[in-house]
Amino acid sequence: MKLVIASRNGKKVEEISRILGEALGLEVCSLDDVDQSIPEIEEDTDTFQGNAVKKAVVVAAKTGLLCLADDSGLEVFSLGGKPGVYSARFAGEHKSDEDNNRKLLDLLVDKPDRRARFVCYIALADRNGLIGLVSGQVRGKIAFRPKGKNGFGYDPVFVPYGYDKTFAQLSSREKDKISHRRRALRKARRVIKDYLISLNFLPL
Ligand code: IMP
Repeated sequence: MKLVIASRNGKKVEEISRILGEALGLEVCSLDDVDQSIPEIEEDTDTFQGNAVKKAVVVAAKTGLLCLADDSGLEVFSLGGKPGVYSARFAGEHKSDEDNNRKLLDLLVDKPDRRARFVCYIALADRNGLIGLVSGQVRGKIAFRPKGKNGFGYDPVFVPYGYDKTFAQLSSREKDKISHRRRALRKARRVIKDYLISLNFLPL
């Protein structure tokens, strides 16, 4: 059975494919693999959950396939959860990861509480609608300056609990072990497994 990921980001599709495809015997494909004419689905709700559900349901309805969609970001406690759902464009549209990190560090200059977490929501849908919604998080704190070259986004300023390095100083293998996305994907795998069993695609 095909599982389409509501994303055109090759790296994301590859990671999801590694975790889900092998375990469940699914043929994992990106939006471009199944239908290049589907326009980018706008992440225009004000919650991670809303964006993930919208993308999964719309793409499943348009393709008729089982679909997985995610939305993720960084929440900083002393900023009331910001940048949150606006993580990608915190410093403005078309600004860089460095701009977003600089804005975040500037806002935290006089804040003693630097606790933060990455969250990831994953929605699953088929042509009949939503099948499930799961989430994963990793907690930590915001560093005083960016460190490390790996990863993307806020990785250079996020230090996960139990570590004295930022995500950008860890190898991708180390980050993957504890990441919000990986934790949500593990739960998504269980939802898909139950779904396949209910359709008699997998033995009980
Ligand atoms: P998306 O859910 O992949 O669209 O991610 C939204 C934004 O959240 C990204 O552009 C990053 O700014 C931030 N983000 C999400 N996950 C991570 C991560 O693992 N590391 C660093 N930044 C992340």
